[in-house]
Amino acid sequence: STLTSRTGRSWGSPEHSLSYIMKKGVCMSAQIIDGKAIAQEVQREVASDVAHLKAEHNLVPGLATVLVGDNPASQTYVRMKRRRCAEVGIHSVGVELPADASQEEVEAQVRALNRDPAIHGILVQLPLPKHLDEEAVLSAIDLHKDVDGFHPINIGRLAMKGRTPLFAPATPAGIIELLDRTGIPIEGQEAVVLGRSNIVGLPVSMLLLKRNATVTICHSRTRDLPEVVRRADILIAAVGRTEMVRGNWVKPGAVVIDVGINRVDDPSAKRGYRLVGDVAFDEVKEVAGWITPVPGGVGPMTIAMLLRNTVTAATRSVEASS
Ligand code: NDP
Repeated sequence: STLTSRTGRSWGSPEHSLSYIMKKGVCMSAQIIDGKAIAQEVQREVASDVAHLKAEHNLVPGLATVLVGDNPASQTYVRMKRRRCAEVGIHSVGVELPADASQEEVEAQVRALNRDPAIHGILVQLPLPKHLDEEAVLSAIDLHKDVDGFHPINIGRLAMKGRTPLFAPATPAGIIELLDRTGIPIEGQEAVVLGRSNIVGLPVSMLLLKRNATVTICHSRTRDLPEVVRRADILIAAVGRTEMVRGNWVKPGAVVIDVGINRVDDPSAKRGYRLVGDVAFDEVKEVAGWITPVPGGVGPMTIAMLLRNTVTAATRSVEASS
């Protein structure tokens, strides 16, 4: 049968369907999952929701970013998030605290944002400097403004059967969105997640489980890793190890989602480095059915889902006050 995404987009002939590729089990170059295009689609929907909130309720969704210290990667991420907010009409406020800010100062800042009616979402950029208690900071965020979905109660709800978090973390939610909009079925599939971090591996495993995949979570102590990975119909690689997943680790026809963002020295590149994933793309694309590139796969989806969570928070604030 033809694969049709939730948005009604069709992916053509039966030859392109997952089961066909899997049954054939032959080498054919994987289809690319274009995260950039899908993220733009999500972003257009978000922009339209923002316009609607403005027109119908005179409400502008607001996102506050909290950045502690001067980690260059974190500064870049916050800048990118705020730029994308501006593109869709979300008002963003950047709170910056020095690297030696105390636990009390950071939590007081979060509580002030909790009280601010113009702010619907609060994002504390991780990692925090080592002297700060990350869990306590994340726990201080108002559950209804926890657009990153890292509040322990939201994670708890994500983990429990029959419960739903107010917000799912952005990168994991973006991965599910990529699968859904590409028309890739999740239910009943063998999903293997490489990595068990709080921000990617663990929550994406829980989202896949909620969607009735059979989920295996791998980590640094997993025995016979390539053997386990070869079971995957859907493989999520989130290890932070340059091109660790090789072509012969992947079952023919599998769907490979590469979350990794690793810097590799490259004197010919403008910045002196380029970004590569946790998957050896050139090898794996000869075996997989579908694959995300790095960059241009999961990365753009992460911010798109954050924007969407912020608009969801703003919409709920209207519903709560009416
Ligand atoms: P962490 O370092 O927090 O977690 C890495 C995980 O991989 C751990 O669970 C670790 O196991 C496991 N691991 C590490 N080495 C191995 C190994 N040799 N074999 C098996 N498992 C291993 O990373 P994150 O989850 O934060 O990020 C993962 C990658 O995703 C990074 O490259 C990061 O840059 C990227 N990323 C991308 C985002 C995006 O928007 N595209 C967003 C967030 C992250 P153990 O638990 O045993 O230590």
